[in-house]
This record gives sequence, C-alpha cells and structure tokens, in this order.
Amino acid sequence: RAKADGRATFRFFEPALDEQIRRDQALRSGLRTALEREELDLHFQPLVGISQPGVTCLEALLRWRHPLRGMVPPSEFIPAAEESGLITRIGAWALRTACHEAARWPWPIPVAVNLSPMQFRNPGLVQMVANALAESGLAPERLELEITESALLQDDQASLSILRELGGLGVRLALDDFGTGFSSLGYLLRFPFHKIKIDRSFVAGLPEGRESKAVIRAVVSMGRSLGIAVTAEGVETAEQLAVLRLLGCDDAQGYLFSCPLPAASLASLIGRLHRPDSAGAA
Ligand code: C2E
Ligand code: MG
Ligand code: MG
Ligand code: MG
Repeated sequence: RAKADGRATFRFFEPALDEQIRRDQALRSGLRTALEREELDLHFQPLVGISQPGVTCLEALLRWRHPLRGMVPPSEFIPAAEESGLITRIGAWALRTACHEAARWPWPIPVAVNLSPMQFRNPGLVQMVANALAESGLAPERLELEITESALLQDDQASLSILRELGGLGVRLALDDFGTGFSSLGYLLRFPFHKIKIDRSFVAGLPEGRESKAVIRAVVSMGRSLGIAVTAEGVETAEQLAVLRLLGCDDAQGYLFSCPLPAASLASLIGRLHRPDSAGAA
C-alpha cells in the first residue's frame, strides 16, 4: 500500500517538476539576452535616519521586465544568474549603472549595491569596483557594498582579505540580511564592516517579540562599541519604527518610508523624506 501511495505521489508531482524545469530553462535563456535587450533596470529604496531625519543611503535593487512574464523578482532570477554564471555580467552592469546614476544625483547621498556570493568570490571583483568608480567619477565613500553572511562562510581568510582590499578602495561595506545564517555576531564582527543590516524577519517580530528585541538590542550595543552603524530592514509600521528608535537603531528601510522606486521618482522621494513632518521624523 505504502509503495502504491508513493508511486501515486510521484506521478502527481512529475508534471509539476517538469513544468518547473521548463520554466527555469526559459528563465535562463531569457536572462542571457536581458542585458542586450535592455530589460534590466535598477530601482532605488531609501535608508532613512531614525534619530536624525533624512535619507542616508539609496539601495539599488535589480528589476527585470520580462517581455512575456512581466516583472520577475530578483529572488527568482538572481539564483538563476548565479547558477549560469551570468551574475558576473549582470552584477557588473548593476554596479556600473548604480555608480553612474549616483554620480549624477544632485544630493551627496551614498548608493548601496548588492553583491551575491559568487560575485564576492570572483577574482576580478576589486578591479571591477575600482573601474566602476573611476569611470563614473563617484567618490569611493559614496559607494556601499552589501554582502550577505552566506558569502563569508566558505573561507575566512579569503573573505577577510577581499573585504580589506575593497575597504582599501575607500568604499563602505555592509553586512546584509544579518541573522538569517548561523554565524554568531562575534564571528561576523571580525570582518571590517561599516554597517549591519538586520534582516526583516526580526523587524517583523516587532513591536511585541521579545527575541527579536533581544537580538536587535545586542546588535546595536555591539555596533555602538565598535563604531558600526545598524540598519533595520523591512520596517512597515510606525509601531515598529518606534521600537527601533527605543532600541537605538541608526537607520530604517522599508515600505513605511518607500518601496524601491525608479530613478526618475527619486527627486520627489528625497523632497518628501527630508521634510520634518515626514515619516522619517515621525
Ligand atoms: P536585499 O538586499 O535584502 O533587499 C531588500 C529586499 O527587501 C528588496 O527585495 C526590497 O524590495 C524588500 N523590501 C524592502 N522593504 C520591505 C518591506 O518593508 N517589507 C518587505 N516585505 N520587503 C521589503 P527585492 O528587490 O525583491 O530584492 C531581493 C533580493 O535580491 C535583495 O535582498 C538582494 O539580495 C537581491 N538583489 C537585488 N538586486 C540585486 C543586485 O543588483 N545584485 C545582487 N547580487 N543581488 C540583488
Ligand atoms: Mg541588500
Ligand atoms: Mg537585505
Ligand atoms: Mg533581505
């Protein structure tokens, strides 16, 4: 009986699996031409100061307008880009474009660019960053690179030396999605980060969540003593922002302030968030 059930289950899933593989293949071949066809775009989401109002950074987030499927989220195509190796070209494009955009902004706000684990391991990374800065003329201290814990796990010493080389260019380094991996805070703080971004899963536990609060409090206190800024990701409500302010977080990012926006919408966003009566100052 068990065997028959198993076979029935297998047969039930088979077409779905097939369909999934077909979708993945279609996605990958579409991704190969996405750059040339100018289907990729960067949107920007603000990081907002908690104790002092205003936009402290703009994070660049990739968007793919697929001709048939519409907007494909990065959670779907970044993994596909990593597996196929296309992330090297797409990542270089994102970095170059973000630097060029930021260099043209009328505000001296830094831009943050995400690096996937494979990009972080790429031996050409430091040169690519140096080139993007040189070609755009963007001041290095206005570029922030976001790296997740999963990129650091593989080799301690190699990670440390890449981060030091990047730091040596004068760019700022942020640890992204903090708390989603299994590393201890103590381990992560041996790396030369300027900023820690607490993953939105912790913020989602606020305003009540005792564990979330304990984690955030610990990160803030470590950050304070080491001179590392702390950002809370995924802030959606005024109640969450109030708790984060009490806990001493430096910056907040989330739909409460703005979702990621196309470059053309940034001027009105900056205007809105710099007003003293804005959500950022609430
Ligand atoms: P991330 O770097 O942690 O970016 C934050 C993600 O959270 C973004 O999703 C953003 O739209 C979303 N978000 C912001 N505020 C809120 C909120 O209040 N609530 C909720 N529920 N979500 C919020 P997005 O744009 O879909 O990007 C997902 C991930 O894809 C990013 O996570 C990043 O790891 C990766 N990614 C995006 N752009 C790039 C890129 O240019 N290069 C690389 N390597 N990865 C990228
Ligand atoms: Mg990020
Ligand atoms: Mg993040
Ligand atoms: Mg995240």
